[in-house]
Amino acid sequence: MPRIKHIEIGVLMMIKIYDDGSSYAWTPSMGEKGIVIRMSKSTLTSLGWCAQQMWLQHNYPKEQGLVKHLVLGDDVHNGLEMFYDNLEKADIDELQRLAKSGADISKNLRKYIPNEEEIVNNRRDENKEFPFYDEDYYRNMEWLMAYETARFAIDKTPLPLANEVRLELKKEIEVPGYGSIPVQFVGIIDRVFEAEDGGLLLFELKTGKWSHYKLASMRKEMAYYKFLIENADPAYLKEKGIDRTVTHWGWRYSAADHWTIEEIKSVSERGMMKTMRDLIKMYLDNHFKPTTNDMACGYCDYIELCPKYAIPMGDA
Ligand code: SF4
Repeated sequence: MPRIKHIEIGVLMMIKIYDDGSSYAWTPSMGEKGIVIRMSKSTLTSLGWCAQQMWLQHNYPKEQGLVKHLVLGDDVHNGLEMFYDNLEKADIDELQRLAKSGADISKNLRKYIPNEEEIVNNRRDENKEFPFYDEDYYRNMEWLMAYETARFAIDKTPLPLANEVRLELKKEIEVPGYGSIPVQFVGIIDRVFEAEDGGLLLFELKTGKWSHYKLASMRKEMAYYKFLIENADPAYLKEKGIDRTVTHWGWRYSAADHWTIEEIKSVSERGMMKTMRDLIKMYLDNHFKPTTNDMACGYCDYIELCPKYAIPMGDA
């Protein structure tokens, strides 16, 4: 985990600069000091919600209290990661043989699900005191096991090639009218499997609700991960066993019992690159567009700082 330097400006503003010399709260004056824009899947996809909110969150960070869905989401993510680690001890060939013969192997797989004690022991410090939502956790894991059972019957290699792959890289991005802009990219890919054609299948686990309206943004997220793999250090990819072409991507919404696996879509990759350039332009212009969706503002913690709702001088 990179160390972070905090710079306090005025009463409220708190800017993080990471050890690699990048910041989500980048301004053109930081650029003059050699600091570069930092970009993640979350900052990139924030444009689909509100770019102004993303900028405010990084400039005026607020303590985010622990809420059930965040802790549960972490527990399910960790649970599945540990499940795959535990599964390495299983007789995979035998499980595959049973699954292909039509047997329900979900009860065999359940043995490898980490229990409450293992999950709580592996929580981040700030989550440790939170209650363990065993009903929600096990329900999510049950749905995941149904999916795993289906995969064992059809996948050549059911175990992931890599789990929780953290990628960090610096790359210059050509932005028309602005030149070549250095950007620090970061991201963690939940899972990388072998695709049916021998290429890589990038896979994301979500614990929220699925809606068909999320399709375009999910494809953009996956296109971002593909971009990270394609620009990562080849030696690191080789070490992780994922030095191959990305041919597929997919996602699993455990609580919605929904999954998608599909071939990569170049139109989504082009859309992701356009969004990336639009976000870089916002940083360079130091202007982050507020959303036009007033409904979104109703849920926003930053309304009091938002220029969209600023009281014009003289009206106060
Ligand atoms: S109040 Fe609305 S426009 Fe302003 S930051 Fe929040 S979501 Fe964006």
